[in-house]
Amino acid sequence: MPDHTDTLQPPLLEVQGLKKDFPVKRGLFGGPRKYVHAVDDLSFTLSPGETIGVVGESGCGKSTAARMIVRLVEPTAGRVLLNGVDITALPPAKMREFRRSIQFIFQDPYSSLNPRLRAGDIVSEPLVNFGIARGSELTERVEWLFDRVGLRRELIDRLPHEFSGGQRQRLGIARALAVNPKVIVADEAVSALDVSVQAQVINLLRDLQDEFGIAYIFIAHDLAVVQHISHRVAVMYLGQMVEFGARDAVFRSPQHPYTEALMNSVPIPDPEVTTTDVVLSGEVPSPMNPPPGCRFHTRCPLAIDKCRSVQPPIKEVAPGHRVACHLR
Ligand code: SF4
Repeated sequence: MPDHTDTLQPPLLEVQGLKKDFPVKRGLFGGPRKYVHAVDDLSFTLSPGETIGVVGESGCGKSTAARMIVRLVEPTAGRVLLNGVDITALPPAKMREFRRSIQFIFQDPYSSLNPRLRAGDIVSEPLVNFGIARGSELTERVEWLFDRVGLRRELIDRLPHEFSGGQRQRLGIARALAVNPKVIVADEAVSALDVSVQAQVINLLRDLQDEFGIAYIFIAHDLAVVQHISHRVAVMYLGQMVEFGARDAVFRSPQHPYTEALMNSVPIPDPEVTTTDVVLSGEVPSPMNPPPGCRFHTRCPLAIDKCRSVQPPIKEVAPGHRVACHLR
């Protein structure tokens, strides 16, 4: 798998300082408005044909970040540029053109697929909506998409509930693929599948990338899956990116104590991934009231005084490898 860095190719997608604060409903007695600080100052670039894996514990903001990138959630601050165009500032009519280029695959395709539509209609809907195909061309295109994602053509008339989990995810991929996207954002797309089905879906995504040059932002909590599919990896903790770099650099030589602890918390089938003494303990603090200084300091075994009051900036520790820690 080729290595991708910030400088190899002009970026297809640029995420710049993305931030999301969700207002919390006021209680019976009012009081000051509170916010969940879901994502804070997220920045990275994505090249054509590249996969960036985003990892972190549940509640780290990775799914909110994914939804902001495709504008299912409006950011509080920051912007997303696709081929140099700021899509976060586009009015809905203009955004429609860009919807074709950037597609989303959900964790549970069942909840995102209309249960009353037949599989063929689910896949043909975006082709009709975007005026890509009609009549016999539409039928041929849907059949081709079924073939391409490994679904038998006789399933075209079935309803989503008649599909297995893996087949439903293939259906979601066919629907996303229908409009020739440049970027697919996959949010925990294989997490609900059995391990053998996971591998088949991941291999399908990689084949489609090789064939069509699609770039992926692949959100997952399973490190082995992320290691398998990603060119570069972003590690998030409590809404912030704490480490970012080439897949092998991050997995084989993690520089942030949180990344080290994540690697140590699960077995990764790679002899070159070495484990250290840093282990994860304690709970993730509330994103409504994140700790001052380094947000990881309440769980970090290496914390020093400065960590409790000064937020570490994310800085380059090696070419293309960025880390937010006072000790690096
Ligand atoms: Fe740990 Fe301090 Fe580094 Fe944060 S800045 S990860 S608390 S050593």
